[in-house]
Amino acid sequence: MMNVLLIYPRFPDTYWSFRYALSFQGKRAAQPPLGLMTVAALLPHSWNKRLVDANVERLQDRDLAWADVVFISAMQIQQHELIGIVRRCRARGLRTIVGGPIASSVPQAELECDHVVIGEAEDLIDGLAADLEHGTARPQYESAERPGLERTPLPDLSLIRMNRYSTMTVQCSRGCPFNCEFCDIIEIYGRRPRTKEPPQVLAELDQLYNAGWRGPVFIVDDNFIGNKARARLLLAAIVTWQKAHGHPFRFITEASINMADDPALLAAMQEAGISSVFLGIETPDESSLAATQKHQNTRRDLLDSVATIQRYGIEVMGGFILGFDTDREDIFDRLVEFIQKSAIPIAMVGLLQAMPGTQLFRRLTREGRILDSGGGNNTGCQLNFEPRMNAERLVEGYRSVLRRIYASEPYYKRVGQYLSRCRPEYQSNLSFRNVRAFLLSLLRQGVLGKSRASYWKFVATAATRHRAYFGAAMTMAVMGYHFQVMTARVLEGVADSLPI
Ligand code: SF4
Repeated sequence: MMNVLLIYPRFPDTYWSFRYALSFQGKRAAQPPLGLMTVAALLPHSWNKRLVDANVERLQDRDLAWADVVFISAMQIQQHELIGIVRRCRARGLRTIVGGPIASSVPQAELECDHVVIGEAEDLIDGLAADLEHGTARPQYESAERPGLERTPLPDLSLIRMNRYSTMTVQCSRGCPFNCEFCDIIEIYGRRPRTKEPPQVLAELDQLYNAGWRGPVFIVDDNFIGNKARARLLLAAIVTWQKAHGHPFRFITEASINMADDPALLAAMQEAGISSVFLGIETPDESSLAATQKHQNTRRDLLDSVATIQRYGIEVMGGFILGFDTDREDIFDRLVEFIQKSAIPIAMVGLLQAMPGTQLFRRLTREGRILDSGGGNNTGCQLNFEPRMNAERLVEGYRSVLRRIYASEPYYKRVGQYLSRCRPEYQSNLSFRNVRAFLLSLLRQGVLGKSRASYWKFVATAATRHRAYFGAAMTMAVMGYHFQVMTARVLEGVADSLPI
């Protein structure tokens, strides 16, 4: 029997952390570490397990003293924190095992751990656990092929305290059929989507429901509609489940923009309670889309596709990238114009990153343009390759885009358009946390905020024109606070000019 400590390193503050919005609700992180919770369920039942998510609690010496072995899962952006944890463990003589996406893109020597698990855990974990028990564990475990998900167990929900998180998570599929040049997901999880059976997913929903969760659930798939036929089957099952349980969840997921071409699929997503979808739109420039092999986004009116999805009551969150070889000087103005017309309040704009292991990284290596392996944070201002455009001009243009889209007036304007188009059906209830968030918003944004005039104008419009969606409007106002704080931080030095 072993005492195994599972550790999830802290994320740095990025747009993705939502940290400044979460504080309004008294939440500590957006989502729990689903991968580690799944690994825990795969480990021998006889082992004692504890999980420390450093995003919601401190890793204490007493946690390390309890453990015989430490499992750490991370993405590349957590590398700095991960290495700090590995060194702390090793200083105490604790055996460390690192897995997760970082293990596929960063060499083991740089991770400084005793063992590394490359790829997905399902087929590896039994052998690794046996070797650990016998003291014969190898430095590296790598799965020969990508496992089917029918063996994936229910994540071990007992290891977390749900009330620390704003959103729970489930995973229905892994992989994506597309071939974007910069994408590391298809390198790690493959281009043939693998899906869980509907009863497996419903069992995960049951587990969350029975544990008392109500509210948002993030379906963390790489592309929820990667296999459309399977997505349709699953949606039908979720529709029935939601009806039987009184619609306790609203879902957020990630998908590709070709969902806009399928009205029946959109209707099913809406009926199942999918209220938000993240789309990699990347750029309004057709030649850049073609050059980066994002063909699914070409030969279409992107604004039209976004509006089609929104008319099904599904909020679109958009990912955008600057720094493609084909970007010209006018790309910054064109991107701002696109985002403003799109009614996408949450627009994640980043500089292109060449992630190790991707087609892009290999091409830029061949062209002698790689500067370093990057840190996985594409919303910082560092480039890890030599762009075609002058690098200073690119970074300055990137900053100008952030400054313009997250200034309060344009942001609230997009939220107003989103409310008109989507008519978001979910409502925030009058729970203590929601009332607290509302009062804090009034204080931080309406009394202390530099842009209180725009804020009150927005609140007044929301209370009159969008009264039926007032809860959603205030949620977006709070999200805007996070983006404005983060933008000020990214812009460092010009932060005072931001109307926060
Ligand atoms: S659509 Fe998204 S997940 Fe799929 S290959 Fe492109 S970037 Fe990767």
